[in-house]
Amino acid sequence: MKITEKNSKAIFFDRDGTLIIDKNYLNDPDLIQFFPDTLKALVILYNLGYQFFVVTNQSGVARGLITIDQVEAIHQRMNEILKNHHPKLIIEKFLFCPHVPSDHCSCRKPKPGMIEAILKSNCDIDVKSSWMIGDKDIDVQAGEAMGLNTYHIINGDLLSFINKIISQ
Ligand SMILES: [Mg+2]
Ligand SMILES: [Zn+2]
Repeated sequence: MKITEKNSKAIFFDRDGTLIIDKNYLNDPDLIQFFPDTLKALVILYNLGYQFFVVTNQSGVARGLITIDQVEAIHQRMNEILKNHHPKLIIEKFLFCPHVPSDHCSCRKPKPGMIEAILKSNCDIDVKSSWMIGDKDIDVQAGEAMGLNTYHIINGDLLSFINKIISQ
């Protein structure tokens, strides 16, 4: 019998206002702007053994302001920028909620549907050593609902998060 060991740790990131500057319904990869220390911080977190996921509300899709192709092009470009910074840097998976609140879907944060889906398909992730990081309460609430540690980031300051976890 094979026992699945939960031996990997992950960080689930919100996207806008957390990894990149929130441009309000961003639909152009050329306008992606990471916060100043984000790439540096991601290398440190990679070296600490974390794998990375992004879970992002993109209601601009339902509002007709962003196409799904544009969302995917942005995510592809984000990974290109990461790889250019450090060959091992990668967001393993980007999940986005295309709905508006009135759709009452199960994926729009604060609902934890996107995190749940990733945990289901990556059953080696140990939630107790994993984190949800976001700039809004809804991010923290979604993470808490799945039993993750949570961190409310301010001004994209990921280095402060690192200082917190390495001083624990
Ligand atoms: Mg945000
Ligand atoms: Zn949704």
